[in-house]
Amino acid sequence: MPQGRRAKKSGPGRRSRTLQSEALLRFPGGVNSPVRAFRAVGGEPVWIERGAGAMLRDVDGRRYVDYVLSWGALILGHADRAVVEAVRNAALDGLGFGANHRLELELARLIQKLYPTLQRFRFVNSGTEAVMSAIRLARAFTGRETIVKFAGGYHGHADLLLAEAGSGVATCGLPGSAGVPAAVVANTLTAAYNDLESVEAALDSPAGPVAAVIVEPVAGNMGCIPPAPGFLQGLRDLTRRRRALLIFDEVMTGFRIARGGAVERYGVEPDLITLGKIMGGGLPAAAYGGRADILRLIAPQGPVYQAGTLAGNPVAMAAGAATLRHLISDRGFYRRLESATTRLAQGLREAAARAGAVCQVQSVCGMLTVFFSAQPVENYRGAKTSDTARFARFHRTLLDQGVYWPPSQYEAAFLSGAHGDAALRQTLRAAAAAFAAAAGRVSARPPRAGARP
Ligand SMILES: *Cc1c(COP(=O)(O)O)cnc(C)c1O
Repeated sequence: MPQGRRAKKSGPGRRSRTLQSEALLRFPGGVNSPVRAFRAVGGEPVWIERGAGAMLRDVDGRRYVDYVLSWGALILGHADRAVVEAVRNAALDGLGFGANHRLELELARLIQKLYPTLQRFRFVNSGTEAVMSAIRLARAFTGRETIVKFAGGYHGHADLLLAEAGSGVATCGLPGSAGVPAAVVANTLTAAYNDLESVEAALDSPAGPVAAVIVEPVAGNMGCIPPAPGFLQGLRDLTRRRRALLIFDEVMTGFRIARGGAVERYGVEPDLITLGKIMGGGLPAAAYGGRADILRLIAPQGPVYQAGTLAGNPVAMAAGAATLRHLISDRGFYRRLESATTRLAQGLREAAARAGAVCQVQSVCGMLTVFFSAQPVENYRGAKTSDTARFARFHRTLLDQGVYWPPSQYEAAFLSGAHGDAALRQTLRAAAAAFAAAAGRVSARPPRAGARP
C-alpha cells in the first residue's frame, strides 16, 4: 500500500467528515449497518479508501492496523492476491446466471472437507438468511414452534431472533427491535450463555416443546466469550434428550477458531450449522445445512420453501473457494493465528496492568475482546457490567494511534493471517496510550453505549 501518514489529530480527518455529512442526508444514521456509525464510542466514523493485508487507509491518508476485517470475514486480510485473482477470473466469465455453475460445487467440496458433518447444505447470501432458513427447517422437521436462543447472542436481523440480541442491538442498547410483532417473538425463549440450568428451564417451559436451541458456540456478538468446559456438550445432551435440534450458528466462528470451526475445536456435533462471513472470502455468501435426513425437507425435495435469486453466485463462490483453499493448504495457518492471538491478548493484559486499567482480555483463536469489567465475563449479564465509557476512551485513543478496533464493547476484534509482528507491535504501542486514557478519571462526558441514536 502507498505510504500514508499516521493519525495525529483526534477524530476523523476533513475528508471523512465531509463524506459523513453527506451520508447523513442519504442513509439513516449515515450508515448501512448500525454499529458502523461509531455512536457507542462517541466518535464519528472514518471513511475507508482501501485495505491491504492487515492495514487500512482512510480517505485522509491515515493508516490503521485493522481488527474489524469486514466483521470477521477477511481471515486472510485485505485484498489477498489469490482471492482477488479468483474473483477477477470468475467475473470475466460472467457475474451470475441463476443456474448451476461449477464453482458452487468447488466451494461445496472444500466446505464439506472441513465440515464433514454437513451432509447436505444450501448456499444463501447472508448469515441472516442462513439462520432464518435453518430455524424454519428445524420447526418443520420437529413439528414444534418454540426456539431457544441466548441473551446477547446475535443471529442476524430476522424478526424471530431479535429478542435480547447482541451485536448492534446490544450496542444501541435496545431490548429488541421496534416493528417486530409480539406474536413473532412469543415463541422465542432466551437462556443465559454458559448456564445449562437456564437452558433446561427453557426446554421444560410451558411455552411448549422446543424445536431447536441455537447458539454461537463461542459467543462473539456480546464480545468474545468462550464456552465453559462442558457447556456445548451439555447443550448436546439436553437437546437430544428432549428431541430438540441443536443449531450451531458458526457464521462468525466457522473457519476461524479452527479449520472446522467449533465442531472441530470442541468435538460436539450439532444437527444443523449456519455459516457465513469467512466462507464468502469477503463477498456475500452464507450457507445452512447438516443432517441429510433433515435437509431432505427443503424444496424442491420437500415442503420447506427457501430460495434465492443470487444464491451460489459464482463470483462469491470463487472468493470463498480461494480462501478455503489457502486455509487447507497452509498447514501452519491456525497454529500461527492462535499464537498471534495469544501474544496480542497477553500483550494487552500487560499494557492494561501497567496503565492501571481494570479489564478482562478474553480470546479464542482469531478473536478477542477487552472487557472493561472487574470479573471474567461469562454471559450477557456479565458483558453488560463492562464500563463502556472506558471502552469508548480506549477505542478513540486506539483510532487516533492508528488502530482500527471494533467501535463497540460488544463486538469481537478479529485477527487475520496477515497480522504479523510489526502490526502486533504497533497495536501494543497504541494500546499503552489507550489503556492510560481508559484508566484516567478525566473525560469529557463519555457517551453511554446504551444511548438511543
Ligand atoms: C454476522 C452474524 C450473523 C449475521 O450475518 P449477516 O451476514 O450479517 O446477515 C449471524 N450470526 C452470527 C453468529 C454472526 O456473527
